Amino acid sequence: MKRTSFLPVLLFLTLLSATGFASGQVNSSKMSFTVSMEQPASHYYHVEFRYDGITEDAVELKMPAWTPGYYMILDLARNVVGLAVKDANGIPLAFRKTAKNTWTIRTPGVKSLIATYYVYATRSSVADPYLSENRGFISPTGVFMHVGGKLNHPVTVTIKPYSGWKQVSTGLDPVPGVPNTFTAPDFDRLYDCPILVGNQELVTFEYQGIPHTIAIETPGSCNRKKLAADLKKIVEAGTAIIGEIPYKHYTFLIMEQGGGGLEHLNSMAVFADVSNYQGPEQEVGLLGFFAHEYFHLYNIKTIRPVVLGPFDYDRECLTNMLWFSEGGTVYYEEMILNRAGFLNRDAYLEGAGKAIGSHENIVGNRFQSAAQSSWDTWMLFFNRSENSRDVTINYYNKGNTLCMLLDLRIRHESQNVNSLDDVMRTLYQEYNKKRMRGFTDLEFREECERAAGCSLADFFDYVYTTNPIDYARYLAYAGLNIDLTPQEPAITHLDQSINKRSFRITSMDHPTEMQKAILSDWLKQ
Ligand SMILES: [Zn+2]
Repeated sequence: MKRTSFLPVLLFLTLLSATGFASGQVNSSKMSFTVSMEQPASHYYHVEFRYDGITEDAVELKMPAWTPGYYMILDLARNVVGLAVKDANGIPLAFRKTAKNTWTIRTPGVKSLIATYYVYATRSSVADPYLSENRGFISPTGVFMHVGGKLNHPVTVTIKPYSGWKQVSTGLDPVPGVPNTFTAPDFDRLYDCPILVGNQELVTFEYQGIPHTIAIETPGSCNRKKLAADLKKIVEAGTAIIGEIPYKHYTFLIMEQGGGGLEHLNSMAVFADVSNYQGPEQEVGLLGFFAHEYFHLYNIKTIRPVVLGPFDYDRECLTNMLWFSEGGTVYYEEMILNRAGFLNRDAYLEGAGKAIGSHENIVGNRFQSAAQSSWDTWMLFFNRSENSRDVTINYYNKGNTLCMLLDLRIRHESQNVNSLDDVMRTLYQEYNKKRMRGFTDLEFREECERAAGCSLADFFDYVYTTNPIDYARYLAYAGLNIDLTPQEPAITHLDQSINKRSFRITSMDHPTEMQKAILSDWLKQ
């Protein structure tokens, strides 16, 4: 909201400039960073930020409090050490810290400033900056400060790798002819483009003429050709769902063994061991992980809840919708594996039954809805305590199952004409492209109901309440049964108890023609 309201102001100032009433400084200001890492074992990046064309009397330098996609306050400003600010003549400029992540510099009459600082980078995760003898991972929200109120300013970044390192890999656009220098049209884009610096090996492939780069830190005996071919199938199946590719190049940043992955519009940063990759047979889980992070380029980066971009980097961005944005991405990761030929129908249904079990066989599902789980993720998901399993749920699991049920319901209600894919395409075209914003909870529901052609009030009760889910009804739309027989003694917590069940999904003996059609259009054999 803050960002879009800036546009008319820019237009107004541009008009003033064109008519000679202003000096045109809005367009002449420049921001650039230089990041060096001469002693990687020290874990310190050195950062220089230059801001030319200042017109304001005070400049706020701000470091984000979190990294989009990783819903936890990280207070990345805590890693900043030794901030110093000078003008273009080297005269120190006074500043003081005015919030936990903000430094305010007085700049009356100052046209340029140069801020230098170190960033201590020891936490090896996809959401934090990291520097060691092995690699530099520049998680941009933890390295680059922005100027308060100017998130939409273009920016240039120059990386000076440690002398022993040859490669700089990122989704940022390179500046032609200038080594290791990149541009971003604004800070949202910069913050969405992590940079891997090291001796990673590069494997490339093209899809529809678009270059894709796989940067692998420890390739070992990985079958590079096979990995590229299999990732290309994921790209093909993923992009086919939406029918449009919103990037000009894509980069897979694959770091050595570790946990986690983070999605970006035209890149992903993942910890994954591909050093023994020979093909999909033993590695379906790994391909699913790539498919998940890849499909996020649609679901969450472009098809997104309204608060998830442009972001407020100072504080939590609360949403009810992660059951769809994350759980739906788990669902689509499996749809992509199925459509790409890596996961057959029986294997998918076996996994779907287990996913239902992992949600239903914990008492927490009686205390927390999918929407509540999403809203409270900042407090409860990453900061787990000993009672978490008994009082919370996992919105990845429940969201995955809910999206499966929603897809089946839309297929059933529309007589197998529409599916959740149609909702995804509408959200992409109507909200991201035409309205250039995310959607509200209500708009999401309306688009689902439009595709189904009826009210989905009872389905959305499953999202916003802890009411028991009628799995048998929804699975029957595709001619499937589910085993709901209680198997083990009840487990209890506080005033709630549940019986464990297998939730095994099987085919009906005599499905109707419509049930058969829905199943075969939904899942490949
Ligand atoms: Zn995800």
